[in-house]
Amino acid sequence: MKVTEIWKSKQKPTISYELFPARNEKAAGKLEKIIDKLVASQPDFVSVTFGAGGSTREGSYKLVEKLLKEKKLETVAYFTCYGLGPDQITSVLNAYRALGVETVLAARGDPPHGEDDFKPHPESLQHASDLLAFIRPKYDFCLAGAGYPEGHIEAESKEKDLEYLKLKQDNGADFIITNYAYDNQFFFDFMKSCQEIGITVPVMPGVMPIYSVKMMNNLAKLCGATITDEIKEGLAKIPEDDKDALFEFSVDFAVKQCRGLIEAGVPGLHIYTMDRAKAAVEIVGRLRADGLI
Ligand SMILES: Cc1cc2nc3c(=O)[nH]c(=O)nc-3n(C[C@H](O)[C@H](O)[C@H](O)COP(=O)(O)OP(=O)(O)OC[C@H]3O[C@@H](n4cnc5c(N)ncnc54)[C@H](O)[C@@H]3O)c2cc1C
Repeated sequence: MKVTEIWKSKQKPTISYELFPARNEKAAGKLEKIIDKLVASQPDFVSVTFGAGGSTREGSYKLVEKLLKEKKLETVAYFTCYGLGPDQITSVLNAYRALGVETVLAARGDPPHGEDDFKPHPESLQHASDLLAFIRPKYDFCLAGAGYPEGHIEAESKEKDLEYLKLKQDNGADFIITNYAYDNQFFFDFMKSCQEIGITVPVMPGVMPIYSVKMMNNLAKLCGATITDEIKEGLAKIPEDDKDALFEFSVDFAVKQCRGLIEAGVPGLHIYTMDRAKAAVEIVGRLRADGLI
């Protein structure tokens, strides 16, 4: 079922998990167990990332196949156009269509890490909006685009970034999944700006639990997310090696954030799992126990 249809069929906000393909056999074994834990928490759908330049093409396909066919989960396939030519794009999308994928998130992607010899295809599309325009007339996928509550890190300005987001809708995006932000006010301001510029498709926030301080800082640096004072002050009270206290703080913080987002009327919560299950399952369990999802 397409994600937009899942929303129509549900009274409460959906829960979805983002996963990325395992890098090697050992990680694949671990991922299998993680998937089973996530499946047991009954998400409405899951999603699978796609390494820019086709770097995870096989792995992404196999993971989508596993989730869709073996685990019987509605699965959104992400797809990035960075560096790929039209034939390569068509071949990946045809494979996903043949597999039964119904929803695709079309992103630009970033140059693959540590692959300095990667050569982009000369006819590579430049932006996600170009990819959406390429896909829309040829495929019946439900399409999503990526949005950035704090603005994309390379954006000329928040205003320009929003104009390009509107172009994603104009070129075929049926909904938006956002990057995470630790302060809900970024989402609320972003939603308001989306409305003002004429973005009418559903906007679903991404939620990133704090898995470790190091990871939080690294990711924030990569995407420009603000680490709020509330987080800094909360973390300052936790002894460095107290994993249980960090877990409790992370889950409490995420649950509070999710409550605020649900109260604001979001269509669903998209949890960035970073291929981990414990925090996501706990957050979802608490939201469900409170009847919020
Ligand atoms: C929900 C979500 C899922 C993601 N999934 C993946 C994934 O699977 N694999 C992966 O590698 N990365 C993924 N990313 C990261 C994403 O690829 C990067 O953030 C990337 O830098 C931008 O992608 P985009 O689709 O937003 O690009 P674009 O929309 O092309 O935007 C990139 C930059 O260009 C500007 N811009 C946009 N359109 C135009 C235009 N027409 N003219 C001039 N400037 C323009 C924007 O303001 C922005 O600064 C994901 C991000 C999100 C939020």
